[in-house]
Amino acid sequence: MKEPKCAQCPQKYCYQGITDENKLPDFCPMIHFKSLIQSVSEKYKDQKIHDFFVKSAVTEREAYDEHAARELGKSIPVRPRIREISEFAKKIKAAKVGMAFCIGLEEEAKRASAILESRGLKVCSAVCSCGAVDKTELGVPAEQKIRSPEHFEASCNPILQAEILNRLQTDFNIIVGLCIGHDMLFTKFCRAPVTTLVVKDRFTGHNPAITLYSRYHRDLV
Ligand code: SF4
Repeated sequence: MKEPKCAQCPQKYCYQGITDENKLPDFCPMIHFKSLIQSVSEKYKDQKIHDFFVKSAVTEREAYDEHAARELGKSIPVRPRIREISEFAKKIKAAKVGMAFCIGLEEEAKRASAILESRGLKVCSAVCSCGAVDKTELGVPAEQKIRSPEHFEASCNPILQAEILNRLQTDFNIIVGLCIGHDMLFTKFCRAPVTTLVVKDRFTGHNPAITLYSRYHRDLV
């Protein structure tokens, strides 16, 4: 079996509704995962999944100018992701959302929290350094501290962030700039679903996509 490589697919036939195997590339998962495609579709019939999924789709549709999409076939966005999050939260009737943020994005987290609260959401937030645990206490060698090995350096504590939000029984959680790896641990330990508002990229001002489309930035990778 060839492993899927959708990223290399020249035509994205699935997007056009084309399933003729003679047209699909040999790495297409639609050739190799036929029974899985059927069984996965069943999962959307679960009532809770169904509601969550349909509300996601409606939020997606509302992100575009309706007239431009339906009359002109154009995809013109009408709102930023933070609005998307608050609109989705309203649809799923989320009463309380969690925010796990990096100390390096404290200003952004403060603003994001205020914006979401101004839109009617209750926001609980936990910073990465919560717990004030030195990195060495969690097993990081002292020489791997960013600054002086002899001095206290607060460890990121993504499991604590997740467990605090678990205890607060948040409806879903929002990542604001957690480090790579820490974001994965946070997600792994969260009981509620997790979405990302800001993905940390220190070098690009949290815009990692710029290394993919700007000729002035793509040689940095
Ligand atoms: S699912 Fe198949 S047709 Fe769709 S992008 Fe992947 S390889 Fe291409």
